[in-house]
Amino acid sequence: MQYNCSVIYHESIQIVKMKHLIGVRALSGLVFISSCQSGEAAREIQSDSDGQAKASNTAPAVPVAEQAFIHDTSRQYIYISFDDGPQRGTMESYAICKELKVKATYFLVAAHIKGRNDGRKIVNTLQTDNPAFVTANHSYYHAKGRYDSFYRHPNSAFQDFQRAQDTIRLNKKLLRLPGNNAWALKDTMRASRLVKPVTRKLDSAGYNVLGWDSEWHFNPKDARPVQSAEKMARHIKSLLDSNQTFTRNHLVLLTHDRMFQRPSDQDSLRKMLQLLKQNPRYVFETLDHYPGLKRSTIR
Ligand SMILES: [Zn+2]
Repeated sequence: MQYNCSVIYHESIQIVKMKHLIGVRALSGLVFISSCQSGEAAREIQSDSDGQAKASNTAPAVPVAEQAFIHDTSRQYIYISFDDGPQRGTMESYAICKELKVKATYFLVAAHIKGRNDGRKIVNTLQTDNPAFVTANHSYYHAKGRYDSFYRHPNSAFQDFQRAQDTIRLNKKLLRLPGNNAWALKDTMRASRLVKPVTRKLDSAGYNVLGWDSEWHFNPKDARPVQSAEKMARHIKSLLDSNQTFTRNHLVLLTHDRMFQRPSDQDSLRKMLQLLKQNPRYVFETLDHYPGLKRSTIR
């Protein structure tokens, strides 16, 4: 599916919303779906025993907004994200998250799919394992490592992301800029001068640009994690408790798949996640459930 202009984008959302009306999952029996026509009252959708939603009236189907994810305000949400896959370490990190029942988001580089015999198979595994795992756009070529030049040409950068969207076969507009921590949600944008032009273009096209609050760094020589599991868990707690995250009580952790190629580093990931799991206030979520997203992301 292409999203090359606002008209196509708008039409595609209408279709998706219709599908969503049929397939929406009920959280508590009742799901409220509001019309995208401003000022129109929300329509109530009654779910049946199978969790399938059905309209409570017989009015012609109208384009509807997606079901809002309801956050528990007494909890703190952690979004584990792995960047640059598929690559060595992708399936290992995936297996650990699965074993520990930790949800995670994978920001994929389209060229890495083509560059591996098992690239598509890995992506299919992640995409099939939704909703525990979500795949997202991290560009086609990762700027080929030349970030300055990439971002100084916002039109070609934008096209690179759109091409990646199609190649990875993504149906959610979740995106992370390569080599730059920027945000563009429904009502908020934070972007440096360099990346602002492309971030604005992506925002206008309905993409949510997602940055991060904390990074588990790696040594560029061997891709091994720098901080210990204990240090990362402490750091995450400290950022959440001192409200030093982009959104209060929501923390996005950036890691890279390739950090977890070796068994000892896999143990480190397992340990860090186990430490976090000990806190009963924490909930692990995927980034399609981050607060304040543009509605175009959820399909
Ligand atoms: Zn990256």
